[in-house]
Amino acid sequence: MPATPAWPPASTPRLFVETPLSDGASVPIEGAAANYLGNVMRLKAGDPVRLFDDQTGEWLATVADVGKRALRLTITAQLSAREDVPDLWLVAAPIKKGRIDWVAEKACELGVARLVPVITRRTIVDKLNSERLRAHMIEAAEQCGRTALPALAEPVKLDALLRDWPADRTLLFADEAGGVPLAQVAKPGSPAAILIGPEGGFTDEERAAIRAVPGAIGMSLGPRILRAETAAAAAIAIWMAAAGDWRSESR
Ligand code: SAH
Repeated sequence: MPATPAWPPASTPRLFVETPLSDGASVPIEGAAANYLGNVMRLKAGDPVRLFDDQTGEWLATVADVGKRALRLTITAQLSAREDVPDLWLVAAPIKKGRIDWVAEKACELGVARLVPVITRRTIVDKLNSERLRAHMIEAAEQCGRTALPALAEPVKLDALLRDWPADRTLLFADEAGGVPLAQVAKPGSPAAILIGPEGGFTDEERAAIRAVPGAIGMSLGPRILRAETAAAAAIAIWMAAAGDWRSESR
């Protein structure tokens, strides 16, 4: 007897949609997503698509009909519930365009729950395109299999962030001047945030103010000065391995 082929096949397109999904629902697809499924992937009626909506998990759908500029999909089964995301925020000063996009993409892939742009004294980027950042996170989520998008906070000034810092969340401050190795202070089961500075780093005043927050821990990412984007990706990876969802066998 031939082996049953895995369904849906690994090549099945995977898309985020804003529409809340449910069994049997009919989902209209328009714009860039319709162009991708219809013209790039050349899907036909009956072909499978995987969908997630950031609310209800992941669903299998099939193409009901293909029009010139739009497609209609029908949901046929739930594939998984919405994932539990490890409770880690990345609080990062905006850096130049291509680099902050890379940070948003990697933060999503590596598993953060929330990205908080923080404006510091030496932040040189004054306009942050949140829509573009969100688009990068959506694309990363589609590719890496996430069923929950990272939340994207409004940019906040460092002093306001520190003033309103939630008492139950450990602030892991990546201090280029040195601190405790992150792997030693990342604790499973407690909400945390990693704070990364801009290209020019933090001022001494800022470093003192951050360290004065109750529950803040100045931590080190090794003896070399990393670029901000390298520091962000490295810190998330260390935290995931020590305290997040990289600790057990998966997939
Ligand atoms: N221009 C600064 C470096 C800034 S690096 C200087 O020369 O000191 C950008 C950010 O990455 C820093 O603010 C810090 O948050 C983080 N970072 C870089 N290397 C680090 C390290 N070895 N340990 C901890 N944080 C680091």
